[in-house]
Formats: sequence, C-alpha cells, structure tokens
Amino acid sequence: MLKIRKDICPAGKRAIKCPYKMTPTRLVIHNTANDASAKNEIAYMKNNNKEVSFHFAVDDTEAVQGIELDRNAWHAGDGSGRGNREGIAIEICYSKSGGKRWLKAVENAAELAAKLLKDYGWGTDRVTKHEDYSAKHCPHRILDEYGWNNFLKLIESKMSDGSAAMVPTPTPEKISVIYQVWEDAGNRWLPEVTDLTDYAGLYGKDVCCVYARLTSGNIYYKVHYKGGKWLPEVKNREDYAGLYNKPIDGLMMRTDTGKTIKYAVHLRRSNRWLPFVTGYNENDFNNGYAGILGQEIDGIKIYIEQG
Ligand SMILES: [Zn+2]
Repeated sequence: MLKIRKDICPAGKRAIKCPYKMTPTRLVIHNTANDASAKNEIAYMKNNNKEVSFHFAVDDTEAVQGIELDRNAWHAGDGSGRGNREGIAIEICYSKSGGKRWLKAVENAAELAAKLLKDYGWGTDRVTKHEDYSAKHCPHRILDEYGWNNFLKLIESKMSDGSAAMVPTPTPEKISVIYQVWEDAGNRWLPEVTDLTDYAGLYGKDVCCVYARLTSGNIYYKVHYKGGKWLPEVKNREDYAGLYNKPIDGLMMRTDTGKTIKYAVHLRRSNRWLPFVTGYNENDFNNGYAGILGQEIDGIKIYIEQG
C-alpha cells in the first residue's frame, strides 16, 4: 500500500498557492524534471512565494499532499483554464534521471491516481497530462519513455486488483521531426531544430516559410499566409511551405507514420504559445491546425508522440 502523507501549505500562503475553491473534475499528471524527493518537492513548493503549486508529489516511497483537494493549484500553464482550476495535480518525482526509483515513482503515482479515481467515481478518461493545457511537453518522461497508454493501463490494473506491476514496454524506434523556418526580418532560414530541443523561429520575427522532415516516414504540411489562403501541401523537403515575405498565421501537419504528430505555434503579437494540436483540417480551428488566422506566428514546435 502506498503511504499518503499530508504536509499542507500554511493558510498564510493560500492567496499565492491555492486562492480558489475548486470542485475537481480531472487529474493532471506532471513530471518534475528534477531529482528531488516528494518530501522536498512539497517543502520547496510550500516555502517559496511563486505562483507554482500542485496537490501531490509522488516518489518511490510515498505520496505527499501539499494542497487540499478542494482548492485549486497553479501547474497547468492555462491561467484560469480547466487544468489549473479543475485539476488535481500529481507531480511524479525523479523524472530527470529516470532509472529504478523513477519507475517505482511511476508505479506509486498510478496507485495514487487509481485511488483518486475510485474516490471520485471516475474512469481513466479523467487522467490528463499537463501538455493537454499548454505547450509544455509534460509529463515528458512518461510520454517519451514509458508511454502514456502504458501508464493508463497501469492505473487500470491498480484499480482492479492492484497486483499487476507493469514493466515498461521498450519504446519502438523513435521518430524525430527536423524542421526550420524562414523569418522575414533577417530574410533567412534559421537553423534546423529537432523535436522539442528548441523551437524554430525567433520571438518577434514573423515566420514566412517552413521546412520539415522525419527521421523515418513522410511528413506532409501546409501553411496559411496572413490575409491570404492555405497554400498547397508539401512533402518532406521536396519544397518548403510558404512564400517569402508573407507571414504565416496557420500551420497544418500530418504524417504517414501511424503515430500522432503534435505541433504548436507562438503568436508574435500576444507573445504566447498556443496548445499543441494534432489534427489536419482547415475547418477545425480547435485542433485542425495551429494558429489563429490574422495573427502572425514567430515560433513553431513539433514532435511525434512515441509508442
Ligand atoms: Zn507539468
């Protein structure tokens, strides 16, 4: 049985860490991206004065709760959206280095998630990830190494009898996206970027053209230019998508790999990343393309979901 301990944020910190009453509707899973224990993650969260907070941190030995479940926390990067205002945040520790204690922490997080789902009468459709709410690739190690579906299966096994401890399946061949953009202030192609190691673009400079290729398989994409239309689809680096000196305001991408491509854009004028999208449909402005028509793009991030 997983030990769950409370170390609740003092009332004096409420205005910073959990100002709002909350009726939870979901879990939001995170990876801490460092190597601190659950105890230390919660202690750090409680003691600083940043508007960063989460309900639980889980490591290889215990789960520590720092925020009451009827208060909101600041973790999903979506302002007063559903992640921050309706989500119970679970941080999984040791995600920087991985290894055995990380795998044990994942198992414990699945046990905690299973308990919460049972308490609320929810199914695993209520388990969401940080990147569902903002363009932060999180929980990165679950997504890149363990596999999101494997994690959901592990939670399901914990909900049924709790006996099945799953070993992560080896990740099949990793497919990377390599991409670059042309910006119209310097009239030049910027260096290539691979996956989420960086973004392609320069904040403040309009992107006009995009080149993309995969390490395996084909990528198809097209762009919409501001005040204009969707340009013809291009494949790999057979051509670039875009027109020199025409800032783009929409991007659409698909692949033939059978895996999900995720892409997001940064808006120059409002200086923010939009959430990742996965679709390919110019009539679906929610998930069919990245961008808001009429708003110039100055950054692009792309990756292929593994597993
Ligand atoms: Zn996160």
